[in-house]
Amino acid sequence: MKILPFNKPIKKLLFTTTILFLLLAKIIILSIFSLNFSKPAGLMPVNNSDGLAINNVNIVMVKENRILNNRQLVIQNGRITAINKANSSVRSNIREIDGNNTYVTPGLFDMHVHIYDRKYLTLNLAYGVTSVRNLNGMNMHLRWREELKNKEWLGSNLYLSSPILAGKGSHALNQKILSPQQGRDAVHIAKASGYDFIKVYGYLEPKIFEAIIDEAKIIDIRVAKHGPHPARGSDWSYLEGLQSLEHVEDIFQGPLNYEYNKEALEIIARKIKQSNVPVVPTLATFDHLTQLSNGKDKFINSLELDYLNPLYFDIQSHFTVSRWLKDNKKQSTYHLEKQKFLSYIVKVLHENKVKILVGSDAGTMYSLPGLSTHNEMKLLQQSGVSNFEILKAATINAAQTLSIEQDYGSIEIGKIADLVLVTENPLDEIKALRTPYAVVKSGQWLDKKQLKRLRIEAKNTDSYYWSIINLLEDLLIRFFIY
Ligand SMILES: [Zn+2]
Repeated sequence: MKILPFNKPIKKLLFTTTILFLLLAKIIILSIFSLNFSKPAGLMPVNNSDGLAINNVNIVMVKENRILNNRQLVIQNGRITAINKANSSVRSNIREIDGNNTYVTPGLFDMHVHIYDRKYLTLNLAYGVTSVRNLNGMNMHLRWREELKNKEWLGSNLYLSSPILAGKGSHALNQKILSPQQGRDAVHIAKASGYDFIKVYGYLEPKIFEAIIDEAKIIDIRVAKHGPHPARGSDWSYLEGLQSLEHVEDIFQGPLNYEYNKEALEIIARKIKQSNVPVVPTLATFDHLTQLSNGKDKFINSLELDYLNPLYFDIQSHFTVSRWLKDNKKQSTYHLEKQKFLSYIVKVLHENKVKILVGSDAGTMYSLPGLSTHNEMKLLQQSGVSNFEILKAATINAAQTLSIEQDYGSIEIGKIADLVLVTENPLDEIKALRTPYAVVKSGQWLDKKQLKRLRIEAKNTDSYYWSIINLLEDLLIRFFIY
């Protein structure tokens, strides 16, 4: 007997029924064991009620490229309340800490990450990355951001894009948009759901892309676009007012049409400068795939893979990492050449005074949270960006881009005390930031011992099971509301 394949409506019904069943199972399990059960073990508590006076520190002023030597930073209720001469007298209820002549910078921002586990925020924090901007919003992220706001556990601040608005042929983790009206609706839904900004791919049909940009302007939500150039068929004016443009690799693959064309690149850089939109180069992700392609298993073995969420480790081994491991010698060499050109693109953008942001794409292809951010800063340095400009990119530029400059991005009285303390001057040695002496998160002092504990606890990720439930929840919600 021939078995007839399911037709589309039946498939859809089966899919919905399965998801509904799983969601129901989740609700039952959650109500039996309470919501906390779904959190991984080892999340560190928030404890920032003490006032602090950090003595003998040199404050890095990221707006002015200078250092205030030998100071005392006073922090109360999570905010900087005074910057005094070192060892000034403070009230008896303020805990005094010796900063040991270290350098203090504002907490770092990674402006392009993929967070698949609460513990990615723990690991970021352990490396001084006190804020991250997540580029593919899922429903679980909204919950995690809420938990952070309620001080339920200690992690980096989380800024959230909508689900990625993508076109025909895109995979299930993205949100397919097939008409201009659907694009406009998606912008409204994302804003109402609580996402901070929209993430959109540049390869969408021009009419759909333009409708999304237009609607986002109308309802006042910012947009991050994949690719630092106009969408196919649209003009440069559609970039004005965007929050950011992601991945310099897209300049090479898009308008340069895979050619090492330096003259055309100059014109593109000037156009981007005119649009006034910051660029997140994400050199680290290309560096990572180049290392996968060239080093293969030897490179993989050098990574601390137990930091990765097990479900996304699995997904990435099948769908992304495997692709680069199959490369032959010729392909691997091609990536090395291309990497040099991507670095050159950053140099040209920087020379044209395009605002650069630090973003690593950590969380994809086994790239590790926090560590990738420092790799991105190293790669920016190799592209000819000065240490001061890199530090600015990772702090004040990011805060301005997210419109949170009143609270973050520099060390000033009244701002939230998210800080990194390092033993060497980061303006001389940017890699000093990779091994913090201490980190302060909203006024909570985290010394070397506590940072080590954060790194150990970061390996205690969500289980495979809970990660699947979270993924199914996101698929189900998007299936119904978009
Ligand atoms: Zn990304």
